[in-house]
Amino acid sequence: MVLGSKIHLSGATREEFLNDPYWVAHEMEHIRQFQEHGKFGFLRRYLLDWLRHGYYNIPFEVAAREAAVLNAALYTRGQPLPDPAKMHQGAR
Ligand SMILES: [Zn+2]
Repeated sequence: MVLGSKIHLSGATREEFLNDPYWVAHEMEHIRQFQEHGKFGFLRRYLLDWLRHGYYNIPFEVAAREAAVLNAALYTRGQPLPDPAKMHQGAR
């Protein structure tokens, strides 16, 4: 979960997170969205869209899932890009 420029992990270690470039790319997209819309703009829209569309279809989440696949190569830390089927649940 992203709040401002910080990523808060729940049920995963920092290493698990950093070893999943899809997940990192997903959360980096949320940071970008947060910066674009501002703290209250982001949270307000995120919550309203959650109520309107359900979690999976929140446009911020749809965009973050797309960014996970598009941008994962930026966060591989020199390793080969893993199989997308193995990405963490948090990035799906
Ligand atoms: Zn997300």
